[in-house]
Amino acid sequence: MLTLQKKSNLTTSLEFVNTVSWRESTAAKEHLLSYIDLLEWGHKQGILDHQEYESAVSDASTSPAEAASVHHRALELREDLYLIFSSLIDERDPEVDAMARFNETLSEALSHLKLIRGESGYELSIRDGRCLEVVPWKVAVSAADLITSEKFDRVKRCASEGCNWLFLDESKNRSRRWCDMSNCGNIMKARRHYARIRTSR
Ligand SMILES: [Zn+2]
Repeated sequence: MLTLQKKSNLTTSLEFVNTVSWRESTAAKEHLLSYIDLLEWGHKQGILDHQEYESAVSDASTSPAEAASVHHRALELREDLYLIFSSLIDERDPEVDAMARFNETLSEALSHLKLIRGESGYELSIRDGRCLEVVPWKVAVSAADLITSEKFDRVKRCASEGCNWLFLDESKNRSRRWCDMSNCGNIMKARRHYARIRTSR
């Protein structure tokens, strides 16, 4: 496993896929509207430290067109990851084109991989001086880590209609069905309750 974060986190690529809410519904909501949104997301997830975040913001302000193109490609990567994860969850072969594009991004990321001396010893880095692509690259590596990990069979899609968020079911008996019990879980429970009342009338 190639951990590129200070804290190993297998779910980074799932969190990335989940930056669209209600993807398969008419109420779909995009959370990454700009390149800066992408950086802020990466910072919150801990895949960019403060210094990396600041320098990427400043690189983006000197090369806005390039930053916009990285943002566009990052969203393409996200949709490819959604297709790949969904196919694997449904035990189907992923679409060849999505897999080819993902592998291209992964190879590009890995071609920048270096062992560097960090604050607390040696660490892996894919940052190469000025680098706008560090967030999608780290997401691609994290997705490869997850897909090849023994925990991949715990990756699930939320059972709430139209939600389609992905999550890692870490429950003992693998019984988790919703991305978030306080949100989708309750919506579905209320719906079933309502349906029961209706049929009993
Ligand atoms: Zn959900």
